[in-house]
Amino acid sequence: MKIFVVNAGSSSLKYQLIDMENETVLAKGLCERIGVSGSITHKAADGREYNAETAMPTHSEAFETVVYAMTKSDAKVIDSFDEISAIGHRVVQGGSIFKESCIITDDVLEKIDELGALAPLHNPAHVLAIRACIKTFGSDIPQVAVFDTSFHQTMPAKAYMFPLPYEYYEKYGVRKYGAHGTSHRFVGNRLIELVNKPEKELKVITCHLGNGCSITANINGACVDTSMGFTPLDGFMMGTRTGTLDPSALTFIAEKENLTPAQINDICNKKSGMLGVSGVSNDNRDILAAANSGNERAYLALRMQRYQIIKFIGSYVAAMNGVDAIAFTGGIGENDAGLREEICANLTYLGLEIDPELNAQRGKEIKISTPKSAVDVYVVPTNEELAIARDTLALIS
Ligand code: ADP
Repeated sequence: MKIFVVNAGSSSLKYQLIDMENETVLAKGLCERIGVSGSITHKAADGREYNAETAMPTHSEAFETVVYAMTKSDAKVIDSFDEISAIGHRVVQGGSIFKESCIITDDVLEKIDELGALAPLHNPAHVLAIRACIKTFGSDIPQVAVFDTSFHQTMPAKAYMFPLPYEYYEKYGVRKYGAHGTSHRFVGNRLIELVNKPEKELKVITCHLGNGCSITANINGACVDTSMGFTPLDGFMMGTRTGTLDPSALTFIAEKENLTPAQINDICNKKSGMLGVSGVSNDNRDILAAANSGNERAYLALRMQRYQIIKFIGSYVAAMNGVDAIAFTGGIGENDAGLREEICANLTYLGLEIDPELNAQRGKEIKISTPKSAVDVYVVPTNEELAIARDTLALIS
């Protein structure tokens, strides 16, 4: 059985075709500059590629190009889309409505659209893409929505409410929703399997550290708290995002520089974080290289981010009154051994100990804590596409 997984933005469309017999990727690709010009980069699992510049005024043309790449190009992997059993879509915001993944109906599409107020950059684009997908593939192929926020819907109110006047929650739904939920669920569930202590109440912390970063606490697979908030801006310092800071710093800067809320939003989301402090880049590798060659602001950015991660983990240990296992994932979490070492060196109060040789290994699932460590520490590569495909398969079965 083959599942097509779609992650669409307003001008891009990432996809994977996954064979669920053995959960292998048959092909993956990316359409970019939708609405502007249009290009596709498509790769079959055996290394064949199809790359082209072709007009994509809307997502419909992008999907048609994907169909061509998959079924007719030199990198074709199937004869026809009839071979595909279902399509799974990543959706950023499910609000308080979508507590789990679901089959897409007209009503579901309308609700995803309404939730656009909470995710203006994402949900309207998802709706456009899903409509284009239905137009291209017809309504006989079931389509499923998998929400980044669903996993966090088990948080108790004490964790998700903001200490603002209650009316803003009632009127506008202003609260913590979290993000990266599909990744935290995938990695958290895998961690629970790896630790394999079914008789025990398992307290788990998953650290998704990529361009966007978030940390989630879960007990027996149910999220109890997460660092991202009303939007993915909350939490700790990321590639270009601030994470949590004193809101009065922002009103102060807005007054001094005569900035609108939209401009402040832009600064906090796109010009801050590792980029803003280092002045070098938003990319961890560039910042590591700059710090190694003596750039003090790059060095400071690294220290700040790691310090904030240590504080978040500590706060979740306190919230759960303990922790049994911690996982690192995402481009930074999976690859940056120095970051893991620095963070774990500040968690020895938990009886946590990592093996430097195991920690130095890269690019695979691995336990990096020692046998005597009181907390199991793992690197677990995330796979959001596979998680979406699994949900899609489960819903159509
Ligand atoms: P996204 O959030 O866009 O999915 P990724 O999870 O791919 O991002 O993570 C991207 C980040 O991972 C970048 O900051 C990149 O520098 C960092 N990264 C990737 N490989 C390494 C590495 N070998 N060492 C350190 N950082 C790395």
